[in-house]
Amino acid sequence: MAGARTTGDPVPASNRRDAGVGGPQPTRRRRGGDGWSPRVDRRHFLLSTAAVAAAAVAWRPATSLAGITAARAITDPPFTLGVGSGDPLPDRVVLWTRLAPDPLEGGGMAPGDVTVDWEVAADEGFARVVRSGSATAPAAFAHSVHVDVDGLEPDTWYWYRFSVPGFSSPVGRTRTTPANGSAVARMAFGFASCQNYGNGYYTSHTHLAAEPLDVCFHLGDYIYESTGSRIRPVPGGEAQDLLGYRNRYALYRSDTELQAAHHAFPWVVTWDDHEVDNNYADLISENNDPIEAFRTRRAEAYQAWWEHQAVRMPPPVGADLPIYRSTPWGQLGTFYALDTRQYRANQGCGDGIVEPCADNDDPTRTMLGDAQEAWLDGAMRSSDTTWNVVAQSVVMGSTPLGPFINQDQWDGYPFARQRMMDLFARPEVRNPLVLSGDIHASGAGHLLADWDDPDGSPIIGHEVVGTSISSSFPAELVDIFGDLVSALPWAVYANARHRGYVTVELTPESATTRWRVVDTIDEPTSAVRTDFEWTIDAVAAGEPASPGSGPSSAPAGPTGPSPSGAQRPAPAQPVRTQPRFTG
Ligand code: FE
Ligand code: CA
Repeated sequence: MAGARTTGDPVPASNRRDAGVGGPQPTRRRRGGDGWSPRVDRRHFLLSTAAVAAAAVAWRPATSLAGITAARAITDPPFTLGVGSGDPLPDRVVLWTRLAPDPLEGGGMAPGDVTVDWEVAADEGFARVVRSGSATAPAAFAHSVHVDVDGLEPDTWYWYRFSVPGFSSPVGRTRTTPANGSAVARMAFGFASCQNYGNGYYTSHTHLAAEPLDVCFHLGDYIYESTGSRIRPVPGGEAQDLLGYRNRYALYRSDTELQAAHHAFPWVVTWDDHEVDNNYADLISENNDPIEAFRTRRAEAYQAWWEHQAVRMPPPVGADLPIYRSTPWGQLGTFYALDTRQYRANQGCGDGIVEPCADNDDPTRTMLGDAQEAWLDGAMRSSDTTWNVVAQSVVMGSTPLGPFINQDQWDGYPFARQRMMDLFARPEVRNPLVLSGDIHASGAGHLLADWDDPDGSPIIGHEVVGTSISSSFPAELVDIFGDLVSALPWAVYANARHRGYVTVELTPESATTRWRVVDTIDEPTSAVRTDFEWTIDAVAAGEPASPGSGPSSAPAGPTGPSPSGAQRPAPAQPVRTQPRFTG
């Protein structure tokens, strides 16, 4: 890999821009690059046509080259939710914002679509604007703006901002991915999950925003639909309709620390259950509401999710929104963002953390649905990148808690999980690495070809589990969880005590994961530290990931058996390199 292009320039915290940028508006404008162009998507073609028609009827001529502006001026600052970017590719990235002068009360915009100008520059001061244009903020989609800016250089950082007459948005920083097939010497990504706003401050996001990352993944529970506030008030009851979900996203997105994390780098987001309803499965709600009622609720929740995320897919039609997708990173890696909620079979055995029952023996029960499973199978088997990173919501590896299993995790879908293990075990699937969240606890472990024979089974991949940004783990269960997980021979690390996020550094030779935890979420600020660091060595194409292919096993830890497999002591750093279970 000598001479490979290096990605991932460190981001000094001082380069982050959390506040709005005032001053004169740029005058250089070039059309093009708007998202949802007619050639991309028929639905947006209709949307665009409707917008043009509306403009002809209701909108007065404008003076800018954008051609049209809203009939009614925006008088209060509209960029209250910040900006964001996401779904980067070698030549493009999606830019996002939403106009919401009164964010917690439906947004506060007058009826009618609005035109928003956008700019992408090669420098933070916008001296070298490389792309610019105008986009529609449709009233039907909460005046959200999605711009799929194309024509960008691969493997390049950019800065972007939006404006409407009188107001300019904060500046966001984003980047493209390396050219397909190109050699990449290094990249770094982060991931987060479970950010219950009412349960704590986003001290984790403050530090996440300052990490030198190329991209960040969100594994779900971006919002919580439920009520409840331990530290911060959450207005409104349980989110159940479009307005309720919009106001909840607006509450979360109004947090300046979360905004800072979005302003620092592009995100690739998937979802878990709380974006709609706790532990829902396809069209089955937590409380077994009538299917048609829940279909309507899911449609409105999915729409609000789309309105508030920088995602490339067209807006939802009804209650269906395919979001599984992949993000390439040159020759170094491919990232697969999965959807474990929209297509899954209902949780077995009455759901919850219960003993296995006959439901778990039903081979037809699915976690991903047939179409997504077939897509992943084809994509991973045809991938020739060194790493294959699967970003998804719930813990995949076997995690029995005494006689019980969590029916909401892959443990509750053993046949579906075995199909994943069989895929990961294929020789052409190189270095599968699974990212998980949901349980509000940190963890790491090996993925086994045969969970019924842990001593004899080859290791066919690895899983890293991130703790919550701010959601709670029951204090009385912290030690019990640690004791139970530490007894699992394939587990490497567990810590349910702390909140935080995860960073992973990928090279052609290794993946180094750091679990970053904060001291507190009960105060607006906190220190951060690395709780555990774990390095996995990449294996060459065609070689199985097995203990024999990695460096020597780690010495036995004080609280559990030594895990076999590809683990090695980390460089001298103030972190533990042995298996550790702090519960
Ligand atoms: Fe959660
Ligand atoms: Ca969850």
